[in-house]
Amino acid sequence: MHVVIDLNRCQSYGQCVYAAPEVFRFRGGESLEYDHVPDARYEQAVERAALACPVRAITLGRPSEAVPAPAAGGVR
Ligand code: SF4
Repeated sequence: MHVVIDLNRCQSYGQCVYAAPEVFRFRGGESLEYDHVPDARYEQAVERAALACPVRAITLGRPSEAVPAPAAGGVR
């Protein structure tokens, strides 16, 4: 699974951090970091995170799909 967050859309609500803290985290309390290709064991949590995002900033893709270009700020 690939994860891409549109950081221009993200409002730092943190719902993704609560849903999948192994994948999403705030650095310095405000800058969102995330794993672009998280471990498969976190797949369900990442799907919950994408559904929980109030601004629908999280896009998920399968490994066979092209990875959309991430917005600035994401960390692998
Ligand atoms: S839930 Fe959405 S808006 Fe909130 S921090 Fe995560 S990506 Fe950003």
